[in-house]
Amino acid sequence: MALPAFEHTPLDSIAATSARVRASFLSHKTRPLEFRLVQLRKLYWGLKDNADLIIEACKRDIGKPTYETHIVELGWCMNDIIFMTNNLARFAKDEKAQDIPFTNTFVRPRIRKDPVGTVLVIGAYNFPIQLSIGPLIGAIAAGCTAVLKPSESAPHAAAVMQKIIAESLDPSCYTCIQGAVPETTALLEQKWDKIFYTGSANVGTIIAKKAAETLTPVTLELGGRNPAIVTKHADPRLAARRLLWAKHLNAGQVCVSQNFTMIDKEMVQPFLREMKIALEEFYPQGARQSPDYSRIVNQRQFQRLKKMLDDSNGKILLGGTMDEADLFIEPTVVQVTSTEDSLIKDETFGPLLPILAVQDLDEAIKIANEVHDTPLGIYPFGSKAETEKVLSQTRSGGASINDGFFHASIPTMAFGGVGSSGQGAYRGKASFDVFTHRRSVTSTPAWLESLMDVRYPPYTASKAKK
Ligand code: NAD
Repeated sequence: MALPAFEHTPLDSIAATSARVRASFLSHKTRPLEFRLVQLRKLYWGLKDNADLIIEACKRDIGKPTYETHIVELGWCMNDIIFMTNNLARFAKDEKAQDIPFTNTFVRPRIRKDPVGTVLVIGAYNFPIQLSIGPLIGAIAAGCTAVLKPSESAPHAAAVMQKIIAESLDPSCYTCIQGAVPETTALLEQKWDKIFYTGSANVGTIIAKKAAETLTPVTLELGGRNPAIVTKHADPRLAARRLLWAKHLNAGQVCVSQNFTMIDKEMVQPFLREMKIALEEFYPQGARQSPDYSRIVNQRQFQRLKKMLDDSNGKILLGGTMDEADLFIEPTVVQVTSTEDSLIKDETFGPLLPILAVQDLDEAIKIANEVHDTPLGIYPFGSKAETEKVLSQTRSGGASINDGFFHASIPTMAFGGVGSSGQGAYRGKASFDVFTHRRSVTSTPAWLESLMDVRYPPYTASKAKK
């Protein structure tokens, strides 16, 4: 199948492109709902018509199984568009302002939903279509114009998205810039009304600093280091299967996957037994032969993961096979003994599953708060009282009780981090809201002048009495 070629956008064209997209916003072209709906519908058909290219691109970039591409990339975005087009009129409608003192109700206070303006969307590689097109859907729906900068680490997917955007959308309003650090740096020099960034916290810091120079608002969807906790009252089979699912998808290259699992000392052996069974059930011929298992995105990430495992003082209990030529890393369970271990200190973002035995739930909560007090997700397995205790004594962007990151797989539920795992949220209505300015508006009727008179000087004694 002939995939379009990935080509870096010439650096000297970036300023003009962003100025063109800004001028289109200022021409008010994207304001009418009908325009936005047409663009969203065109994007839907662009995705559908290029489904085969998307599937092939995701396969080449990250070895993504077709089934997963259908669910988490293509189908995800198409459903998102259906949701947005079905609900756009409701989302965009003015809201009556709430909690208004009676005397102010005569000026009809309301909230208008205005587009924030021209936005830059920067995507990550692991869900290359969803993490780029998802925010773009929100931007189009909100009436913004937008430039998308997909991740260069998934070049085939980036090139297919560029083709779809160029062929489907109004080119004066939406466009794609391809490239890596130099191109993104050039983009950050331009004027934006919002920057929506998905990726690592390190790069998120660069984006936020640059944006702060011009007081440009940012939404940051950042990295994980998410803890899972398995108490002595958890069901070990459920915990093993669900946590393996959360680490096998995309070969663990998922921001919301658990980074490490703390297990009550009594539950370690039952959990490991079940994990071994789950691995055999998921991959009867082994993960390597399975068509349902992805690959690591590139050599750099493969080497990073290999080094992490080499540096670990843990004991490999299951898996451990790697093949650089094939960018394959087997799901690998490692028993570690310290939170200083390389597999816990940093985000693995790969199929390495460190487990740490703990004395009890209190110790697990203490460690969770010490390792990263605001992770993207937390995953407690245990009784209702135990899992509620975890929620009430920790913070995180989201949480799934008795599951790995299930909360993050609900496409219409707001998704985002907290503290250093991110700021702002999107998906469902939140995708519209994140690109919308809630503009407070009042309208003072002429007949109110006699009452309004109290605000004008001179501030006479009789006015003070009113
Ligand atoms: P990354 O930060 O390396 O790259 C993301 C984007 O930033 C790319 O488009 C890249 O071109 C750009 N970029 C990289 N270096 C830059 C620099 N110096 N200046 C300007 N731009 C730069 O992230 P990644 O490797 O694509 O993704 C992995 C990270 O993203 C992990 O930490 C993961 O947890 C996180 N992530 C978060 C979410 C979320 O929704 N919270 C989703 C996916 C991935």
